[in-house]
Amino acid sequence: MKRTEINKLGEFGLIEHLTSLNKSKSSQQTQILKGIGDDAAVYKISDTHAHLLTSDALLEGIHFDLMYTPLKHLGYKAAVSNFSDCYAMNGHPKYMTVSLGLSNKVSVEALEELYSGLYHACHAYGVELVGGDTNASLQGIFIGITVVGEAEIHKITYRNNAKQGDILCVTGNLGAAYLGLQILEREKKLYLENPEIQPDLDHEEYLIKRQLKPEARKDVIEHLHALSLIPTSMIDVSDGLSSDLMHICKQSKIGAIIYESDVPIHIKAQHRAIKFNLDPITCALSGGEDYELLFTISPQDAEKISKMPDAKIIGKITYAEEGIKLQTLGGQLHKITAQGWNHMQ
Ligand code: ADP
Ligand code: MG
Repeated sequence: MKRTEINKLGEFGLIEHLTSLNKSKSSQQTQILKGIGDDAAVYKISDTHAHLLTSDALLEGIHFDLMYTPLKHLGYKAAVSNFSDCYAMNGHPKYMTVSLGLSNKVSVEALEELYSGLYHACHAYGVELVGGDTNASLQGIFIGITVVGEAEIHKITYRNNAKQGDILCVTGNLGAAYLGLQILEREKKLYLENPEIQPDLDHEEYLIKRQLKPEARKDVIEHLHALSLIPTSMIDVSDGLSSDLMHICKQSKIGAIIYESDVPIHIKAQHRAIKFNLDPITCALSGGEDYELLFTISPQDAEKISKMPDAKIIGKITYAEEGIKLQTLGGQLHKITAQGWNHMQ
């Protein structure tokens, strides 16, 4: 019997392969506006409105480390990362289910903490927890979250509609969550070497918060609405700017130039990167989990972007043949290849 290792295909190759095995088309096909390949699936519920459907799983030891992740924050982050996928479609999350795999080392008190984070996120973002599933696991915690959202059909932003000449924008700042993770990993290592040492986390709250308790950009969706601005494409930055921009470029069949001078990197992230001997722009390009929104707008909407409180222009859309390039501070153009997701490698 033939055996192919998962590593050989990688995450996206594997998804493509598995989904290509489906040869039958159901009668619901006409209702599906987007199946696989975006931040959420989209299906019509009326002539004007659609539901969004997205799910994500978090596994202990792969996506989170309980040595430095409070369960309350974990619950919050697990929920928020799914809400972020609904905002990336220019819609709003509404309903959530939570499936758990629990080993016998997990106590009721620990689960109360996890749920206080989940409920806190639901309350902050106007989402209802409506169900789930609870199972035993041999090892570690598994958290699977599914969210249903709502959107107006004409406003939905896919990954595949960016056009040459469009303007590339991003919200907030990038790279901070990655640097927060590096700080927590460093503290863990020091603690394991010498448990007597007190963690040195002074002045690091901002970066650590970006890693442990990220927010999704509901406010940005509200500002877009208030300005009657509909991006031509949008994705949330969960894997890193270069990897997530690559999804827009591949699916829209376009290229892009990012201006290094305009990529927003928080001053604390810049300082911390340099202390860690890392290049801040590399952290912004390849560090994930910022949950900011990366989107394109048509050039005639450029004026509106200046009215958005926390979004800025960072580049432009070019032809597919150009690929993705970084225009450095010195003016040179460097080709970028996505690093993105590599948990399976
Ligand atoms: P995101 O990072 O925005 O959550 P992913 O990269 O996880 O998106 O997924 C990309 C696309 O592949 C989504 O449309 C998702 O629903 C789909 N997908 C992921 N895993 C599977 C799977 N095992 N079977 C079918 N579709 C999948
Ligand atoms: Mg996403």
